[in-house]
Formats: sequence, C-alpha cells, structure tokens
Amino acid sequence: MKEYSTRQRKLLTDFFKSHCDEQLTVKEIAQFNEISDNISKSALYRNMKKMLSDGVIQKYAKDGGREFVYQYIDKDKCAWHLHLKCTGCGKIIHLDDDATEYVKLLIKDKNNFSINEHKTILYGLCNTCSQ
Ligand SMILES: [Zn+2]
Ligand SMILES: [Zn+2]
Repeated sequence: MKEYSTRQRKLLTDFFKSHCDEQLTVKEIAQFNEISDNISKSALYRNMKKMLSDGVIQKYAKDGGREFVYQYIDKDKCAWHLHLKCTGCGKIIHLDDDATEYVKLLIKDKNNFSINEHKTILYGLCNTCSQ
C-alpha cells in the first residue's frame, strides 16, 4: 500500500513537472491519460492535498473565479523569482532571478516598497497572445 502511494506520488510529480508552465484545474488534470489510467479521483485529490501542504504545487484562483488551478513549483528555483501570467492563454513565465532582483530594487528605490515574490504574480499578455 505504501509503495503504491509512493508510485502515485512520483507519477503526479512527474506529471506536474512536465506541465510546469501550465496551470491546470483538477478536472483537467484528471483527464490526462497518464493520470486517469493510473490514479483514482479520490487518490488524485488526496495526493494533491499532500503536495499542496508540502509546497510542491501551488494553488491559485482561476482568473479570480471560484475554480482553482494548480501548478508545479520548483521550490529551489521558484522561491527566488517573480512569475508572469498570461491572461490570454494562462501560461506562466518564470522571470529570471536577476530580472526579479532588478524589479524589486527599482520598486524598493522608487516607492520604498518591498515586493513579496512568493505572493506576487504579474498579469499581462504573452508574445503569442499580444499579436
Ligand atoms: Zn518559477
Ligand atoms: Zn498567452
């Protein structure tokens, strides 16, 4: 039983990693074959709850609505930079650490305000959607 849930956890982690620039609802996640073939709905919920509390994935309100989307967070990398979200296609862009530092310094300098990069998402349009 233990081994079984470890396998599910690994499968889910790999799934989230390979979709790390997307934000998906539980419904959407459950529809991928690799998930639906291997994990029951209840096990999916259980595992995701655990991954959320472990900080492996992050939960966001979908465009301010009542639905939630989930995204993989690389704790080592994502803790140090800002994220940009395209309101057209939902894509998440990871700003690099230098650019994050630059933006933070600029705002600190001009407005004497410290941005919390863990809680901040900048909304806009990606290259594809702005054309
Ligand atoms: Zn990131
Ligand atoms: Zn876009």
